[in-house]
Amino acid sequence: MMKVVGVIGAGAAGLCAARHISASPCMTPVVWEKASRVGGTWIYTPDVGKDEHGLPIHSSMYENLKTTIPKELMAFPDFPFQDGEESFLHHKDVLKYLEDYTNHFNLRQYIKYVEEVKPVNSDDGTTGWSVTVKDLEAKTTTTTLCDAIIVCNGHYSVPMTPTIKDIDKFRGRQMHSHEYRTPKPFSGLRVVVLGASASGLDISLELSTTAKEVLLSHNHPVNIPSELPANLRQVRGIVAANEDGFVFGDGSQAEADVVLYCTGYEYTFPFLSEECGVSVEDNIVKPLYKHLIHTAFPSMAFIGIPFQIVPFPLFDFQVRFFIALQAGNVAPLTHQQMAAVTAGELKQLKVGGGKARHHHRLGVEGSTLYMRELATLGHFSPEGLQKMKLFKLNFLRMLFSCLTFRRLRYSVEADGQVREWRNGREVNTTLELVWLIAVQLSRLLWRDFWSVSSFAARTLRNRLGM
Ligand SMILES: Cc1cc2nc3c(=O)[nH]c(=O)nc-3n(C[C@H](O)[C@H](O)[C@H](O)COP(=O)(O)OP(=O)(O)OC[C@H]3O[C@@H](n4cnc5c(N)ncnc54)[C@H](O)[C@@H]3O)c2cc1C
Repeated sequence: MMKVVGVIGAGAAGLCAARHISASPCMTPVVWEKASRVGGTWIYTPDVGKDEHGLPIHSSMYENLKTTIPKELMAFPDFPFQDGEESFLHHKDVLKYLEDYTNHFNLRQYIKYVEEVKPVNSDDGTTGWSVTVKDLEAKTTTTTLCDAIIVCNGHYSVPMTPTIKDIDKFRGRQMHSHEYRTPKPFSGLRVVVLGASASGLDISLELSTTAKEVLLSHNHPVNIPSELPANLRQVRGIVAANEDGFVFGDGSQAEADVVLYCTGYEYTFPFLSEECGVSVEDNIVKPLYKHLIHTAFPSMAFIGIPFQIVPFPLFDFQVRFFIALQAGNVAPLTHQQMAAVTAGELKQLKVGGGKARHHHRLGVEGSTLYMRELATLGHFSPEGLQKMKLFKLNFLRMLFSCLTFRRLRYSVEADGQVREWRNGREVNTTLELVWLIAVQLSRLLWRDFWSVSSFAARTLRNRLGM
């Protein structure tokens, strides 16, 4: 008998789920989407706050955003981006890609546009799920019974805002990157950007084109070893606010007109009823096995929980693993066994000096290991994994030359060999990278000797287990 699989959300993750479920001989998808089109976070809007239905704006895209991941790596393994001159695309090209993916795999027939999915219930968690939705146009309410549920609601919508001592005294403007659209309103202002992950760095660079001064405030062990515009300076994390500005971790102070929080987003699942038993504690979604499968109710999965990943290929592997599990192609584990695996991973993270709230952070090496493991356990071909070499190379390029890394063009050979091109000419990657890293590290060491040497000593001590 055909299993009905409910998919919540039609962003990249939900579309990928629909694509593979619809190709499975024993499953059919029903996708519910609360926006009026597919694409999720890639649907740019200049608006902030609430949409026309009074719901919070979902997308955090900004007007000039170009991807930080080259298209050759970013694509789903079975659907390349269209050939073109550039590797790093504007957000509208990614939205077009997701629409092309939807049409190519004939997915529109499965998508229902709803006011919101609410709630998802289960009688006893083993027999299936009932999903109640209100149609966006007809306003009628329907309930669908599903054998399995895939949650793909996206995790870059609900801002995570830090607690800062005396922030109520600060007379300037506070905002989160979720509300950032263009650098124009910051013309001539002094801006503190808190958080230097990919978004924090990218937005700081944009702001530096109009703002008087940008202070990029972060607690990375060492400064970002890249050349930066003259009016962009790195400072330690904020420790307190005052009326006119901020005090930073090294005791220095600066006046500011605006503080922009690039401090990430919360995981939220407001549409899951209490009996689904899902909680978020210290940035960990519980109870999950392999960041994906509900350990108590394995017919419920969550796509896209990990971060510092290559999203589309990782979604593809997660979906294929879930389908393999549903089809009985994965050796079944009990609730206790799955919970023990997760507890072991958390313990290992803490032993290595990591923080629990970084449990879902996979990073360059972790992503590749994770995807390989899913493919091995799920007995499917790890198609696309050979491109992960480009993840490391792109990460290094971004870190050491954030002003220019998007000028490169990439191609990946069938055996995974990565080739780089600049202005139509092939680059000698090894030679260039060694030179770039050597130059930037010596500049960093020159300017910031104590933090670099103490970081190096700490890393060495950790490696040697001292
Ligand atoms: C500023 C920014 C830059 C980024 N840059 C890159 C990049 O360069 N490269 C890259 O690969 N990734 C990038 N990402 C990551 C990006 O989020 C992922 O690539 C991917 O698009 C996430 O897809 P998703 O389906 O998980 O979530 P989303 O795209 O957020 O989709 C979730 C969907 O679920 C729907 N939904 C939510 N709740 C409900 C509900 N209750 N009922 C019905 N529908 C619901 C939403 O309307 C939405 O359509 C970036 C993200 C941000 C915010």
